[in-house]
Amino acid sequence: MHTFGEQETCNQSSPKTKNVWPIPSVCNIMFIQPKPQNAITIAVSSRALFNMDREQDIYEQQGMEDYLKYQIQHEIEPFAPGPAFPFIKAVEAVNTRLRELYPDSEELFDVVLMTSNHAHVGLRLINSINHYQLFIERFCMTGGNSLIGYLKAYHANLYLSADSLKVREAIEEGIAAATVFSPGKITEVPETQLRVAFDGDAVLFSDESERIYKAHGLDKFFEHEKAHENKPLDHGPLKGFLEALGKLQQKFYAKGQRLDCPIRTYLVTARSAASSGTRALKTLRSWGLETDEALFLAGAPKGPMLEKIRPHIFFDDQMFHVEGAAELGTVAAHVPYGIAQKVQSKTARDVKKDMPAKQLE
Ligand SMILES: [Mg+2]
Repeated sequence: MHTFGEQETCNQSSPKTKNVWPIPSVCNIMFIQPKPQNAITIAVSSRALFNMDREQDIYEQQGMEDYLKYQIQHEIEPFAPGPAFPFIKAVEAVNTRLRELYPDSEELFDVVLMTSNHAHVGLRLINSINHYQLFIERFCMTGGNSLIGYLKAYHANLYLSADSLKVREAIEEGIAAATVFSPGKITEVPETQLRVAFDGDAVLFSDESERIYKAHGLDKFFEHEKAHENKPLDHGPLKGFLEALGKLQQKFYAKGQRLDCPIRTYLVTARSAASSGTRALKTLRSWGLETDEALFLAGAPKGPMLEKIRPHIFFDDQMFHVEGAAELGTVAAHVPYGIAQKVQSKTARDVKKDMPAKQLE
């Protein structure tokens, strides 16, 4: 269990034993708890964690009052799992293993549910969290205010949301963030091993090489990468999250559990091994980081490979990779960072067109 400092003022009921599930505490900006030292904080929006499509439709078509009425009427009915649900479950499975190995350590994942929803919806969210026995102790209702201040106060290591505008705002503030999309079909993912797959350029790395490719084409890109092979790439928005995962992996290695580590990471890049892979690997090494597996697809579609890996989440900066992955059953998350966001693809336009004026998160 975490212990919090004296500033803790949230009304929370903490379990005394591991067998009792907590009642999430409801916070606002006045009552933010200090982050447990060394915790890896994941902020997840209610619509990423749960499927609230039907409720969102009611809100958009019938308005706020009907929406709230519906939520209250269905208060004891748990929401169906959303796209980030399997990821959060796997994160909790890792925490269980960490608690067994290091009972007194605060080096754990810490999940905060972030929502701009009305307090009435909060009750249904709490019921849903308890229904699925999720270990989410912190629950932040922002009352429609911008989430950025809250994310910073929580020192969020990752923010997952279904609202691309909020994610974009977070990325612009230097917070690792991604918009999660529900996959086209359900793929079974492991329950005891958290698998996280990252794209390279404009996700783990900056978009500096991507810019060369977009401006001058593939040949110039290869040339550039060869010439700069020994110059590490700058870091991208998700580098810190890979680092955080690596820190937890080390804790398992230290107990002789390298082969049975419940966290596995993947680099899934369109770079080709021979021509441009070296710089990617050398960059990771220069940071003191590694992924358990590195897949160089040389421009081949990422979806089929991800279908084999079965990660809980895959991060990419390009919507066509996100869509390709989601079509084949991977929970894919879009990182709106870098030069690719400026290239108006059909997909990007469609996303914008389909976006409702206001979304409840
Ligand atoms: Mg990329």
